[in-house]
Amino acid sequence: MSEIQKTAWPEQAEQGDQDSLGEADVVTPPHLRVVSTGTIDLDRATQAAADLLDALGVDRDADGLTETPARVARAYAELLTPEPFEATTFANDEGYDELVVARAIPFSSLCEHHVLPFTGVAYVGYIPDERLLGLSKLARVVDHFARRLQVQERLTAQVANFIEETLRPKGVGVVLEAEHLCMSLRGVRSNGSRTVTSALKGLVRDDPRTRSEFLALAGTRA
Ligand code: ZN
Repeated sequence: MSEIQKTAWPEQAEQGDQDSLGEADVVTPPHLRVVSTGTIDLDRATQAAADLLDALGVDRDADGLTETPARVARAYAELLTPEPFEATTFANDEGYDELVVARAIPFSSLCEHHVLPFTGVAYVGYIPDERLLGLSKLARVVDHFARRLQVQERLTAQVANFIEETLRPKGVGVVLEAEHLCMSLRGVRSNGSRTVTSALKGLVRDDPRTRSEFLALAGTRA
């Protein structure tokens, strides 16, 4: 446990970029350059939100609702627009080869089946090989892939795949734990029940000691 917490370079990671780190690479994988399948048309989205409310029998003339369609459109636009970021990596000069784990990263996304939020925390870890990625960037990766219509399993896999492709580490582990409003607010009303998904690769998957270290840090017995 103590070994794993030895993420001794967060100060460097927070600074994030070139200066203090010597030879930083800015990596923008091809699938990050185009993040959206289409442009957002706020006027159309506002009209569509108004139509939806009408179809649901809502009296849009009531106090407080006049601006609601436009607010709905803006809110969804924000939730579906990933923030661009540069996955800056830097050389692992000290040969650090223990797990690096960012714990309990808060995230929220929209389920593609109901367009309702699911929110929770992510645990993202990797075992470095030649390159390191700033800790703050691990959270950015999660946020980036969360801001689109998603299913939790795919979000988990996309975060793991991105880190694998960007860093070529010796192992990657991603655990997501989330509550889906489409489950907790309706149907069985399983309030508070949380869904856990994981994606493990390389040594985090294959080496029993590393695997259990990571899963213990992620608070799961999966
Ligand atoms: Zn759903």
